[in-house]
Amino acid sequence: KEERIVVLETENAVLHLKLAEYQGLAGRSTNEVLQLYAAHGQQVKFQRSSVVTQLHEAIKKRLKQDLKSLHSFALELSKDFQRQSKTCLYQVLAAVQGIQLQNEAMQMFQIKAFDLEQSLQEVTERYEKEKQKRKALHNSLIELRGNIRVHCRIRPLLPFDDAAGHSQDRQRNFSEKVAYAADDETILVKCSRPGHASVNKTFQFERVYNDLESQDAVFADVAPLLTSLLDGYNVCIMAYGQTGSGKTYTMLGPQLEGNLAFAAEEESELGIIPRATQEVFRLISEKPPGSYWVEVSVVEVYNNEIFDLLAKDSCGKVFGVKRDVVTTREGKSDVPLLTHETVENASEFLHLVNKGLQLRVTHPTLVHAHSSRSHLVVTLTITTAVFGDNFGTLWEDEQTSQRLNKEASFTFPQKLRENKSTSSSRASSPVQLEATEKMKLVKTRLQLVDLAGSECVGMSGVTGAALRETSFINRSLSALADVLGAIAEQRAHVPYRNSKLTHLLQDSVGGDAKLLVMLCISPGQKYLTESMQSLGFGTRARQVQRGQVKKKNFPVPSKGK
Ligand code: ADP
Ligand code: MG
Repeated sequence: KEERIVVLETENAVLHLKLAEYQGLAGRSTNEVLQLYAAHGQQVKFQRSSVVTQLHEAIKKRLKQDLKSLHSFALELSKDFQRQSKTCLYQVLAAVQGIQLQNEAMQMFQIKAFDLEQSLQEVTERYEKEKQKRKALHNSLIELRGNIRVHCRIRPLLPFDDAAGHSQDRQRNFSEKVAYAADDETILVKCSRPGHASVNKTFQFERVYNDLESQDAVFADVAPLLTSLLDGYNVCIMAYGQTGSGKTYTMLGPQLEGNLAFAAEEESELGIIPRATQEVFRLISEKPPGSYWVEVSVVEVYNNEIFDLLAKDSCGKVFGVKRDVVTTREGKSDVPLLTHETVENASEFLHLVNKGLQLRVTHPTLVHAHSSRSHLVVTLTITTAVFGDNFGTLWEDEQTSQRLNKEASFTFPQKLRENKSTSSSRASSPVQLEATEKMKLVKTRLQLVDLAGSECVGMSGVTGAALRETSFINRSLSALADVLGAIAEQRAHVPYRNSKLTHLLQDSVGGDAKLLVMLCISPGQKYLTESMQSLGFGTRARQVQRGQVKKKNFPVPSKGK
């Protein structure tokens, strides 16, 4: 036990020692833990403070960068501004220089303009002289072609040519074509009589149109006459031929229910009258505005009476009023009280002519239903004011001049247009008188005539009133032939007054007026006699110019004459 106690006590002491040792160890561990804790706290603190500084640093860096870029941007901006202002300055300088240059150029231009103005004046003067020369040349050209010339147009064979027109000689092929254009100056006609060999006869004219030639081609030869018209010469274009030979087609165009074709697709079909009017207005449009104006009258000569187709009754309705033709003191023909309508363009004119046409007296004959039994005369009167006296040779209507001078002033064309054909009693002021003394009104006339059918009575087979008509027609056409004959022989007296027709046309037939006779020929065998008659008339009319124009070599008379 004792021993045991000693061992246990030793063991106890050892255990005490160990305990003390462990306690010491534990104390050290606690310390360590505390230290570690403290260290950890410090580390955390440290870490925190380092993030802030890092952030601070980053911000600082960033700010620096931004500041730097801002600075450089501002620098760039100011540089740019400097550059731009420099270029602007250059531009301003250049503009100022440009302006200076332009000023100089302007001055030069002004000088040039002045020079040009002067030369323009000179050129205008020269142009005026050249214009007069051109007029004279154009006129001598027209005169060389003959103041009276005859063209001949052969129409195509048409369906109605087939219908047997009259009783005699039924075996013959009436629709056989016997008239041909041999060339553009010669017409060839095959004349055959039963029991005889057929003979070819030729006739020569200034121009022969074959049946295929268009309205355009026909008008192309007419147009130069209109230049003469504006140069101050009277012009007459007439279509001669039997009924159905194409007179109305040639002068007016195809007729639709008595109306001139207006539709655009028919434009190429328009005849001489509408085309001539268009050309007159075109020529006028080349002249100074307001220097020319145009009046129209439409008359019909029926049974040797003149009917005004534009006269209106008090209600404004159109009806044919009988008028008379007289010779004025100056020896010109005039139709007192005849209605003259002022027109400003070709369509106004066509409208008027259509109105007049609807009144035309027609009477059916055997030759062609609704043949026109009257002469239609459409007159365009062109008036222009002439200052000074350079139109010495022109036809001047003194009466009208006097009438117009009373009411007109320097600006009379406008006045006349507003208030045509009414004479005003307004007193002229001294200024107006002065203006009118220096100014003359010059009138020229374009007369466009669709003659009545030239067929003889036997051919038409008419009696009674229609016979009377036909004999009046024949008389007026032979009066026309007589007038042309008298002009041919240069007789002192030309029997214009033998018929109303020739009296009406007096101023545009003969003298230096230009006349174009358009012979219209039906090509069929059926119409041979009438065609030969027309060709005879044309040949006779054509001889007129032989007496007048000596310079031109005329073709030898054909064997057919
Ligand atoms: P006129 O006036 O001489 O009596 P028209 O001009 O009335 O004759 O012509 C008779 C017919 O012949 C009309 O139907 C017309 O359209 C036609 N005609 C005349 N000439 C020609 C032509 N060159 N081309 C086509 N048709 C024509
Ligand atoms: Mg006719």
